[in-house]
Amino acid sequence: MGPSASLDLSALRHNLQRVRECAPNSRIFAVIKANAYGHGMLRAAAALADADAFAVARVEEGVKLREAGFQQKLLILEGFFNQQELAAASHHQLELAIHQTEQLETLKQQPLDKPVSCWLKVDSGMHRVGFQPDQALDAWKAVSQLSSVAGEVGLMTHLANGDDLGDPTSKAQFDRFLPLAKACGTRISIGNSAGILGWPDARTDWVRPGIMLYGASPFINGTGADDGLKPVMTFQSRLIAINHYPKGSPIGYSGTWRCPEAMPVGVVAVGYGDGYPRHAPAGTPVLLNGRRVPLVGRVSMDMITVDLRNQPEAKIGDPIVLWGAGLPVEEIAGLTGTISYELFCGVTGRVEFIEREAH
Ligand SMILES: *Cc1c(COP(=O)(O)O)cnc(C)c1O
Repeated sequence: MGPSASLDLSALRHNLQRVRECAPNSRIFAVIKANAYGHGMLRAAAALADADAFAVARVEEGVKLREAGFQQKLLILEGFFNQQELAAASHHQLELAIHQTEQLETLKQQPLDKPVSCWLKVDSGMHRVGFQPDQALDAWKAVSQLSSVAGEVGLMTHLANGDDLGDPTSKAQFDRFLPLAKACGTRISIGNSAGILGWPDARTDWVRPGIMLYGASPFINGTGADDGLKPVMTFQSRLIAINHYPKGSPIGYSGTWRCPEAMPVGVVAVGYGDGYPRHAPAGTPVLLNGRRVPLVGRVSMDMITVDLRNQPEAKIGDPIVLWGAGLPVEEIAGLTGTISYELFCGVTGRVEFIEREAH
């Protein structure tokens, strides 16, 4: 009766196909970092075997994929942090993003089993990691000359405000990055999901979709359905109790919500211990037998309470959808002050994961 995350693997493949339709001339790094945004990295890699390559954040994630037998091209978005990781990247043939001179120095000094493929990360305006545009050409040449580096060094950058189609920052980033790319004459990568769906200039040699593969929109106020995406994860549980309380009864911790009249209150077996956001306010919808019912009272670790006044037929054991098919995750994210990415990543190990193919 506990909560489960039902994963529609055919939706994952459908969403990969949407990437291909949006960026038909690009090759695809399917981004499966952070346990594939909470969906299960190895499971996602198997379902997305058609992608041209995979990308993860850390060397450790890449090693896990190699050890599980995945032989695809594999990019480490943060590059390596120390000599052990560089050795592992060489051994497992992981491609590395190089974003600072410290990494360049290590690459210069450390003998490697096999040369590694590299991408130079340029900071075109995100101001998180990457070489500044005025230093990038020199850095690119320096990396390109190293004997420990295999093949042509790519050039990549990341959009800071791609989620807002009215924001001028992305255009400024293209203006800083594209001339540099021209000067290097190498393969380039810009688009994350927002870039792929919303910014034609970001549909470069390689694109790096993450969230859209999982069926959610990268845009402020958007939903995946707007862009033809299908939700992969449906987070669900069941009604485990129905209680009737008199008018004025406080519900749950601190009695933050009181019954406005005598009414039935349902209890659902899900809480923040499962990854349901504790800050979900009263009124946040859940789906009960396909109909929306509002959350009431505080979210506890293992349970939430819902207003059953419009559901006289509800009974113990009825399935409840917290987000996913029929209830966009973006809506729950908006109500709880976060983004779909965090809700997906937050589903905990206590939740049972169930794989299914579309019906
Ligand atoms: C996580 C990440 C992505 C994927 O971003 P989405 O918004 O999920 O599509 C792409 N590129 C880099 C560098 C990332 O860190």
